[in-house]
Amino acid sequence: MKIYKSLSEIQSDLADNKISCVELVEWYINRIDEAKRLNAFLEVFNTSALEKAKEVDAKLKTNTAGKLAGMVIALKDNLCYKGHNVSASSKILEGFESLYNATVVERLLAEDAIIIGRCNCDEFAMGSSNENSAFGNVLNPLDESRVPGGSSGGAAAAVAANLCLASLGTDTGGSIRQPASFCGVVGLKPTYGRVSRYGAIAYASSFDQIGPITNNVADAALIMEVIAGNDEYDSTVSSKLVPEYSKQIDTKPAKLRIAYIKDIIESEGLNPEIKAHIYSVIEKLKSEGHTVEAVEFPYLDYLVPVYYVLTTAEASSNLARYDGIGFGYRSKNATDLESTYKKSRAEGFGTEVKRRIMLGTFVLSSGYYDAYYSKGQKVRRLLQNKTNEILNNYDFIILPTTPGTAFKFGEHSADPIEMYLEDIFTVQANITGIPAISLPLGKHSNGLPFGIQVLTKHFAEAQLFAFSEYLMANYSNLPPSPSP
Ligand code: GLN
Repeated sequence: MKIYKSLSEIQSDLADNKISCVELVEWYINRIDEAKRLNAFLEVFNTSALEKAKEVDAKLKTNTAGKLAGMVIALKDNLCYKGHNVSASSKILEGFESLYNATVVERLLAEDAIIIGRCNCDEFAMGSSNENSAFGNVLNPLDESRVPGGSSGGAAAAVAANLCLASLGTDTGGSIRQPASFCGVVGLKPTYGRVSRYGAIAYASSFDQIGPITNNVADAALIMEVIAGNDEYDSTVSSKLVPEYSKQIDTKPAKLRIAYIKDIIESEGLNPEIKAHIYSVIEKLKSEGHTVEAVEFPYLDYLVPVYYVLTTAEASSNLARYDGIGFGYRSKNATDLESTYKKSRAEGFGTEVKRRIMLGTFVLSSGYYDAYYSKGQKVRRLLQNKTNEILNNYDFIILPTTPGTAFKFGEHSADPIEMYLEDIFTVQANITGIPAISLPLGKHSNGLPFGIQVLTKHFAEAQLFAFSEYLMANYSNLPPSPSP
């Protein structure tokens, strides 16, 4: 079978009876098996995927199939799918089976997507390299000596290695966009409140969003159209109407106003080739008559600290429920209630998760609450105001997704702060709640891809998709340009 890179190709072959959904699913199951060494999947849902494939094949015959018919999609292992295990790649959820479908899963199934399995990730979505999974590293399919990024590392690797057509990840500080950048695929973090988080295992609730990882913009737009929108189970979801994103992606953008933050592009940690590439994108945009201007954002140094103060605070609260009683793992060494809590948590959580629970508990503790948590909230407001001010004057902000290309295993794991700094360009969108996409526009001389990131106003996904489609069509493989 040929390698499919878009849903439209699959749907056209289904319509011409060249393939069936059952054959397609069998083909993907086989590929996943052959690519086992990548460790991208924690579990393949053979039985339910094949059942669904049969159902969709029957519906196709009667012209009653949904818009995602033929889409074979994987879930990051922190999204609940009724009757299937889910673990957030943590030992503490050992053996836990979802009791209900996440809203996104319910909506995918209703449009006849086929869910093929659950993908490895950093434990509780905490990490930038997938090295924090309790179930081992995921290899980057483009260079197996390197990380796929994180925390949705398995979900991005699976799409890049054609083990599924698309996947859903979650993004709290970059976990969709950074692995998308490292694996050469498209990753979108939607506006906070665009997609229901019901049934997503929470890390930091005021930052978390679910979004698609795909080979192209059209598939991302279509998935968003299906999963976004009001949900009575999540009060933070907006009731704003969901546009038909997929029908609007071909709108050629008018003359745009685009901002870039000079301090980001000139920042010391940014790989010089990525910098040169961003400048070449900027120059080309200008040459096509768009306004592209440098803007001030004097708060770069605050992004990562604010992110880690606030997300760890939220995590310490969200993860309090894993107490050895209600879910998954319970220590066999416990003798009473208190030791059940203590030992189950001590044995069930990994090092990074424990570090964050402790840090979060500290920033929320009575003596330090004002110094850290309250202060963090105030700085978050400041960062939001400044970002919104820029976006009141410009349609988009353009920046790199990551400071470099995929790094080697172990390269940043000795020092947590060093790893946290990997998130420098992605956390702004989560701190402020705006949508952001990573597009695989760059190719480094080391052979690895890197993403260009575009940010825009709250709920402006339709414009973001149209601009992204335009960039993907016209801005791939640009020669590097020196700083202007
Ligand atoms: N790398 C970031 C972190 O470790 C982002 C994680 C995420 O978006 N889930 O927290």
